[in-house]
Amino acid sequence: MAVFPEISGNDVNGLGEETPRPVRMIYWAPNPPDIPHGDLQMYFYGQSAKVPAFAEARAKRQEVLDAPLPAVAPEIVQNSPEGWTNSLTQFIESGDCELAGVAEVRGDWIMEGHEITQSRVIVLGVVHDYGEISQAPDPAAGLEVMAQYGRAAAAAKTVAGWLREQGWDAEPITGPMSGALLMIPAALSAGFGELGKHGSIINPTYGSSFRLSAVLTNAPFAPTPAVDAGIDGFCASCKICEDACPPEAIFQEKQMVRGKSKWYVNFDKCLPFFNQTHGCAICIAVCPWSRPGVGPNLAAKLARRAERLENEG
Ligand code: SF4
Ligand code: SF4
Repeated sequence: MAVFPEISGNDVNGLGEETPRPVRMIYWAPNPPDIPHGDLQMYFYGQSAKVPAFAEARAKRQEVLDAPLPAVAPEIVQNSPEGWTNSLTQFIESGDCELAGVAEVRGDWIMEGHEITQSRVIVLGVVHDYGEISQAPDPAAGLEVMAQYGRAAAAAKTVAGWLREQGWDAEPITGPMSGALLMIPAALSAGFGELGKHGSIINPTYGSSFRLSAVLTNAPFAPTPAVDAGIDGFCASCKICEDACPPEAIFQEKQMVRGKSKWYVNFDKCLPFFNQTHGCAICIAVCPWSRPGVGPNLAAKLARRAERLENEG
């Protein structure tokens, strides 16, 4: 708490603001001194560096990040938009990632003061080992998150490398330092799921038990459709994450954030516990959608209920 800045993280995020405005970087800045909460980010690094397994996982991810990308080939391979998008299944089949989708880049997904010139974002998702993540907030869960961020980075570099070999420039974006791009709205638009009360995406199959990375490109991929599986309504009548969050950071109701009503987590309450526990993740682990095999059954039940209500007029 000694390094907490005077400004509230909720003010940086635009909690209570009625007018849309660009997003300001709140955490995971590529250069922590650039942001008001940078000292807290540095504290997180300092704490995790004391645990050898975290230092090893971070070094392993850095190796992935430092590996050079292939040069952009001089010959440009052409394909239909659907052909490009369908070809992403090869990365799921090969085990690089479990989820892949595409969205056209929107201005409101770009951090204030940054620029994105590419027209498309390919979003990739890698799923946690539930046995590890369910140990949250023990360090085993934080280590699993770091391991999957490493895997997500590798997947983004593989996809970007593949595109570059086909003559299309491509820039891998790896979490959590995603720089200019807000990955959650991009992933929502690309059909990864719906925003949950705990502020993370809920996918109908994998719940919230996954991490993201992305690739920016001008290759003309066809966007994949957003998903409406009734999850938003489910969250309205579920309190599991709210009750499980030790610092009570999860709001019961949607909040107005930069002109949009949405589920929101109180940054100032979450962050101290998050830092203290090397990444917490309790809300992700306790969400019923995250339990293996549960999501598809819940989604099927919600679909049956929606159909019944529609038939009843
Ligand atoms: S635990 Fe319940 S309320 Fe929280 S995100 Fe999951 S489904 Fe929504
Ligand atoms: S990460 Fe932990 S502290 Fe933060 S909202 Fe989730 S359960 Fe609460």
